[in-house]
Amino acid sequence: MADGAVAEHFDIVIVGAGIAGSALAGSLTDASLRIALLEALPRERLLGDEKNDTEGVQHYDARVSALTESSRNFLQAIGVWDCLDPNDYLDYAHMHVWDALGTASIDFDASEVHQPALGTIIENRKLLRAAHGALSDQENLSMFWAEAPSKMEQQASSGVPQTLIHTQNHRFSADLVIAADGANSKMRTMLGFESREWDYGQHAIVATVRTERSHQQTAWQRFSEDGPLAFLPLADDAETGHYCSIVWSIESDLAQKLFGLSDEAFARELERAFESRLGRIEAVSARQMFPLRQRHALDYVKENAVLVGDAAHTIHPLAGQGLNLGLKDVALLSTILQEAAGQHLSCSHPLLLRRYQRARKTENLAVMATMEGFHRFFGASDPGVRALRNFGLSWVNKQSLLKKAMIRQAMGV
Ligand SMILES: Cc1cc2nc3c(=O)[nH]c(=O)nc-3n(C[C@H](O)[C@H](O)[C@H](O)COP(=O)(O)OP(=O)(O)OC[C@H]3O[C@@H](n4cnc5c(N)ncnc54)[C@H](O)[C@@H]3O)c2cc1C
Repeated sequence: MADGAVAEHFDIVIVGAGIAGSALAGSLTDASLRIALLEALPRERLLGDEKNDTEGVQHYDARVSALTESSRNFLQAIGVWDCLDPNDYLDYAHMHVWDALGTASIDFDASEVHQPALGTIIENRKLLRAAHGALSDQENLSMFWAEAPSKMEQQASSGVPQTLIHTQNHRFSADLVIAADGANSKMRTMLGFESREWDYGQHAIVATVRTERSHQQTAWQRFSEDGPLAFLPLADDAETGHYCSIVWSIESDLAQKLFGLSDEAFARELERAFESRLGRIEAVSARQMFPLRQRHALDYVKENAVLVGDAAHTIHPLAGQGLNLGLKDVALLSTILQEAAGQHLSCSHPLLLRRYQRARKTENLAVMATMEGFHRFFGASDPGVRALRNFGLSWVNKQSLLKKAMIRQAMGV
């Protein structure tokens, strides 16, 4: 668009309408805030075909998330959960974790903390559609599909710093720009945020599988020196079949080989790696593969810009925490911005943005460090570490109070 064209002004422009960006937009309902949500993809590409008539393993989105109770509560509070059908998700009550190189295992059960579930498994596509469904009547929100910022400039209006955002078809000005454009965030770079990142040397293969036996409402995780393998429970029915979503994080060269196998050969490799805990793998969906990198932005806020979700941090999927952390960013940022609107403060007030950064960086870094510890501890093949791991798992499994604390921590409550 021509540089001279008049820019449309919004208090807040959110870039990226993934789960973090759309949940944030949906939570900012204060009528005094004018919000724009920009998404690079066209609507149908992001949300897919709503009347899905595929069957069996192809029926499911290969990407699913294990949500904590804290994430679910937040999504309920902002109306996203109401846009889901109860068949769209599955609560799981048990978790079984074991070490491939030893004999030890650990079990977590929701009943230990007097809860009906440890968490909820949901397909990303369904959650995203629900998040967008909740936005449909929001009067203070303007949605722009297939729009990505190509250039940004700083300007001031009556002494208040603003960002001028150019896209192919529009020009926007904003008091606050929020980057929610995911792990490979272009906004992070355009806005001049630095990040620290390194490669895990692993890729994650995700797919839906049908298994011979029921998953028993259990999330299964096997650790081996090649990387963790998770089976997350989906629909379970004696007639239509038992389904799980798998996340197989594995050393990159081996992942490439596994990814290239025929469905039948892949199913046999998967069955072997999973020690046939759920019997035969009867069918496998189309697979997807993701390189695994850890990233953390050195700062989450600048003068009038903020990072949320994967744009601020990405972690190893081994404990299914990435989106849960992103939703906690969203929940806190939303509370702070709504409070500011109530007090007629600018939404880019430095004290408010610093409050967000302080709280979220502290928690995100702590979780990332814990995950890094798990990753190294469970990936080590050194005999001393293996012995310690076996002893540790057996010991923790018998410590009822410690397990309760771990369950509560993992549930985010
Ligand atoms: C294999 C795997 C398994 C995982 N399992 C779990 C789990 O069980 N639980 C969990 O909590 N987390 C899990 N995660 C992490 C989780 O998937 C991510 O944290 C989450 O999807 C990030 O959401 P987001 O909205 O921040 O980013 P994204 O989902 O990446 O959304 C970004 C959006 O921005 C758009 N966009 C990109 N660039 C631009 C641009 N320039 N302009 C405008 N729009 C743009 C994109 O099209 C997209 O819609 C897993 C991750 C992986 C890789």
